[in-house]
Formats: sequence, C-alpha cells, structure tokens
Amino acid sequence: MNLAVWVERNAQRWPGRPAIAVGHEVHADWATVATRVAGLAGGLRHRLGLQPGDRVAIVMRNRPEYLEALFAIWHAGLVAVPINARLHRDEVAYVLEQSAASAVVVDEDHHDLDTLADDIDTLGTCIVATGRRWAELAGASGIAITDRRPADAAWLFFTSGTTGRPKGATLTHRNLLVMSLSYFADIDSITADDAVLLAAPISHGAGLYALPHVARGAVSVIPPSGGVDGTEIADVLRRRSGVSFFAAPTMVKRLASDPAILDADLSGLKTIVYGGAPMYLADLTGALEVFGPRLAQIYGQGETPMTITALSKADHADRDHPRWAERMQSVGAVRTDVEVRVVDENGVALPTGETGEIVVRGDVVMSGYWEQPDATSDAIRDGWLHTGDVGSFDADGFLTLRDRSKDLIISGGMNIYPREVEEALLRHDDVAAVSVVGRSDPEWGEAVVAFVVAIDAERPPTIDQLDQLCLERIARYKRPKEYRFVESLPTNNYGKVLKRELREQLDHNA
Ligand code: AMP
Repeated sequence: MNLAVWVERNAQRWPGRPAIAVGHEVHADWATVATRVAGLAGGLRHRLGLQPGDRVAIVMRNRPEYLEALFAIWHAGLVAVPINARLHRDEVAYVLEQSAASAVVVDEDHHDLDTLADDIDTLGTCIVATGRRWAELAGASGIAITDRRPADAAWLFFTSGTTGRPKGATLTHRNLLVMSLSYFADIDSITADDAVLLAAPISHGAGLYALPHVARGAVSVIPPSGGVDGTEIADVLRRRSGVSFFAAPTMVKRLASDPAILDADLSGLKTIVYGGAPMYLADLTGALEVFGPRLAQIYGQGETPMTITALSKADHADRDHPRWAERMQSVGAVRTDVEVRVVDENGVALPTGETGEIVVRGDVVMSGYWEQPDATSDAIRDGWLHTGDVGSFDADGFLTLRDRSKDLIISGGMNIYPREVEEALLRHDDVAAVSVVGRSDPEWGEAVVAFVVAIDAERPPTIDQLDQLCLERIARYKRPKEYRFVESLPTNNYGKVLKRELREQLDHNA
C-alpha cells in the first residue's frame, strides 16, 4: 500500500474539512490538498521526468508545503529524503550525494542550495516552495497514485547511527504503516476531530508522528514560527481540541515553565509525546504538574521509527503504583508490533534484570541502510536490529536505558556525533588532538565539550578560532559549549581515546 492513499481518502470523506493550518489560519482543506498533491506528483513525474523509486530530498523549515511535498513524492512513487533544515550546506550536500537525490524541494531560506546541482551529478532540480517552479509543478495535471509494494522505500531517514557519517535508514511504506498503527495501539486513538501540532522539525519525529494523524483525517497545524513556542501553542489550544504534539524532553521542560502555557486553558490538549533523549525525573514531575496526565514517552530510533517501547499516559497517571518513580525513569514497555530483547555480546538473550544491548525485531524495523550493505549487516544480525543502546528489563517488562554503546551526544533532542565536531576542530593548524564528549546538562540534556591538545601548550588556539572552524563546517547547534585545553588525551593500548575517562573527568569536576 502507498501511504499517499490517506490523503485521497480524506478528500473523499471530508473534502471541506481543514487538512493543514498555519496557526489559526486554514491553509487548505482535504480536497485542495489532494488536488495539489496529485498535481505536484504529476509535475514531478512528467515535467521533471522522475521515475518511481527516484529520491527527492526536502530541506525546509516546518511549513504547509512540507506535507504537500512529502505526500506528492509518495503519490508519484518516489522516495522522500527529509533533511534537517539546520544542517550546514556541506552536510546537506553529503546527504544529497549519498541518497543520489534527483531533486530537492527547499524553502526561501535554502534557495541557494540550487548551486549544488553543479557539483552533484544526480541532482537535476532545486524547487523553491512556493516559487515559480513549485507553482508550475503544482499546476500540472494530477496523476493516479503510483502502486507501491509494502517493501518499497518511502522515507530515507538520515541518522548517524553507530558510526560517524550519516546513513539513510530506509523506511518502507510497510514500516511507516506499522508505525502508525502501533501509535493507535499504544499511544492514542485519533479521529478527524483531532489535530496534530507540528512544532518540532518535520524532518524528524514530528513528521513521523504526523502520519497517524493524516491517516485518520486530523488537521496538521503548523505554528507560524515553525518551531516550539509557548505563546503560539497556547493560541492553538484556545481554538482547537484534541491537540497532540511531539517534543524533545528539553522542549517539554521549557514549555512547562512558559508563562503563556501556565496561563493557558489546556483542555484542548490531548497528548504530548516526548522522547528521543532521557527526561530527568524532576523535570517530568514538573511537566506532569503543569500538563496533567497528558504525557506519553516513546523510545525509538530512525532505524525503527518511534517504535521500540512506550510509557503510556496511563503509566504516567498511575502515581499510586509503588514503583511509579522507577517507571518514570524507564522508557516503558515493549510496543505491540515488535519483539525486544536485551542480549550479551554474542547476541544471547539475557535474563530479566541483566544489562546488555537492546535488539528489536518487527515489521517497523528499517529494511537497511540505503546502499550500505556492510553497515546494514552490522546493524541487523539474524533478523534483529542492534540499537547500540544498553539497558535492562524489570520483572514487569519495563525497559530502562543505562547507557549508549555509541558515542552519540543528544543535545536539545538533536543528535550530534562527536567525530564530525572533532573533524571540524582538527582543521586548526595549532591543534594536535581533540576529543569531543557529552556532559550532562540540566537544560539541554547533554552539552558538547571538546578536549583540545594544542601543538604548543604555550600558544593554544583561541576559542573564537575554534568556534569559527565549526561554523564553517557544521550546524551551529553542534558547536562545543565548552573547550578544555589538556596536555594529552587518555588512550588505551591501541591508541584509542578513552572517552569514558573524559566523561568521568567532567563528572568529577561538575
Ligand atoms: P534517532 O535515530 O535520531 O531518533 O536517535 C535515537 C537514539 O535516541 C536512540 O538510539 C536512543 O539512544 C535515544 N533515545 C530515543 N528515545 C529515547 C528515550 N525515550 N529516552 C532516552 N533516549 C532515547
């Protein structure tokens, strides 16, 4: 099944009901969105000459055209490659190359990406929404939905995974269908009277969780700022009911102390789904006081989108349970559609209570990394996806994450792989060695810290120079929040830097 059938079906059933809104302004009803999606699909296929299976990237901040582009890509049988709009141009170029994208849809802020077509062989066209070319494509004659098999790719979700450079987790139509159905099974039922607020980036969790809402005909509401803002959210809640949204724990924490939210009537709020990084118990307790039992936590990863375990709204509300506090620090129970095990280094399942790597099997698990067979066979072994996360189950089936076996830093819900920061800093002529780790941070979850060894300890590089090197190469949010100049880095016998020791130093000096 092609996921684009949802839009067509909603247009039949509720043609005049709002499909997409920006704040309180309706952008388009379902009939209009369906016509535009079918037209764009026709434009992509017949004017640009794209063939089913070709990749089309999207680099846009949240805006209504994001969803139109996404569903048009699917309608045309193409594969969407949503790219984080905050990435550096070189990082975007890397993803476009890896996915061999034929076209990229961008917003005004990214119109200068059109020059990448000169450097990237496969990239033919850059379409600025809502520029002339977008209007031309949207005005093309609509085509019928292209047949897709369940195993056909729908979304390449670029993630750093367990090794440095981003890889495209290939999410099929079946994966995203099962993800949506298991939202209904484990998180919430949804009706056409509900709304999903797309405040977090659509290229990531918010976009994935828009899908179960589109499936049921709920309206997608994009805040005018395109981001997470308490005043705008309060405004949406004043006008709509049955509102759900996805947010990283740092955003939930911030909203829970936002005066606009504290003053707001929250009766229109249905569910806040948080996840992607740990949430400290004190912050969660504070958020529950403000939002009531409307919080649900999910643990997932790009490779098994949004779906490994969940801590339901009922779990959050069950405050009299003797192990409530422990449960609130867990990532909840296994989702309906997957099997999850904790295994030792040989892949053998460990008994309850023992800590090991978390592995997942089920129809939601990606088919593999795009064009990376070696990375795929490293990640999926004997049918089990190895998450790189380490945890243990309790006797009631609640899973607690203990550590990450990978070095990924998650700051403000955004993934930062240390190597890319290290590579940017190592370009400085006066830097001999560098190692980047995460330090726990009450606001951001984790903050990036760079340990730097200068070639001449008397004349270390300046922080401004190091910051500048990062700004030239990587997204702003990946820049270290702190630099520590050290004489040497701790290494093991093979010369590999012992990041664990660096993290311990940070803990001791905290
Ligand atoms: P991504 O592929 O970008 O979604 O990142 C996935 C990683 O984020 C997982 O492998 C975990 O390490 C982490 N993560 C996801 N959800 C949670 C959660 N609820 N609590 C703690 N860490 C999480």
